[in-house]
Amino acid sequence: MTSPASGTDTAAALPDYAPVPQSALGPALNDQGYYVGRVERNLYWVTDGSYQSAFLTTKDGVVLFDAPPSIGGNIRRAVDEIASANGVSNKVTHLVYSHSHADHAGASSLFDKNVIRIGHEETKRLLLRDNDPARPAPEETFADRRTLKIGGERIELEWRGPNHSPDNIYIHFPDHDALMLIDIVNPGWAPISIANLSEDIPGYVASPAIALDYPWKHFIGGHVTRLGTRDDVTLHQQYMADIDASVRKALMSVDPTPFFQKYGNNPWAAVSALFDAWTEAGATPVIEKYTGVLAAADVYTRSTVFWVMESIRLDLGFASYVHP
Ligand SMILES: [Zn+2]
Repeated sequence: MTSPASGTDTAAALPDYAPVPQSALGPALNDQGYYVGRVERNLYWVTDGSYQSAFLTTKDGVVLFDAPPSIGGNIRRAVDEIASANGVSNKVTHLVYSHSHADHAGASSLFDKNVIRIGHEETKRLLLRDNDPARPAPEETFADRRTLKIGGERIELEWRGPNHSPDNIYIHFPDHDALMLIDIVNPGWAPISIANLSEDIPGYVASPAIALDYPWKHFIGGHVTRLGTRDDVTLHQQYMADIDASVRKALMSVDPTPFFQKYGNNPWAAVSALFDAWTEAGATPVIEKYTGVLAAADVYTRSTVFWVMESIRLDLGFASYVHP
């Protein structure tokens, strides 16, 4: 007899979701659990199927962009594999942080103390505050923009305000037709919980248009299984615009009165049920439209709808009620 807590029973009780569309899937991983591929010329990307980082091989060594701990030691293996195949140096000389979060920077300490770390000044402030030995603070920082010229290669770093995080930057490779922008657009997939765990929704919603202002063909989004295209970014914008419109409609059409009538002196019970009702009304048409279009639209749209709804109410003041 198996106990109710057995793995099989737990798995059987979990919900089923729509199949992942073929368009959301990227290349297969190797036996060590990673894939490394060329973005363009000497710019490469590495993935474990969930996270992505990138690196540039130069005549003076390798410049790494993010070090997600889930890829961890495979970053080193991927760099070694490419460097030896091309007869170039595998010495990592620089590490650029897209932002401070541990899930994209937590393998930073695997690289030696002589690596020069570069990041936004807010990234430095946050890393010093959070004091995680896995993520040494950057020695070199910038405020608004900075052009890196390393080993004959050009990289443009720019901060355009808070979005997913306060410090998230645009990493443009003008000579490689590529843009790296982490935790905004997951090519082929819906954002995860609360719009990719974003702290500033107006900034998050505005950032794809900023991304599209740069000239590029290849998009490195930091997540899931493949690189992105300009069409992926446009599709994500459409998804977020549909969420916005649907949320506004839900806020206007679901009447709060019965929720407060029902729960009397427990206003939090009323608010909780009302938030759920607004979220459900906002999410339903979006899930219907994007299932089969963006992977996991049925898994995560409710969560993002909830967070966009709170931003529309609290940041934008939409449907705000002033007692007469
Ligand atoms: Zn993040």
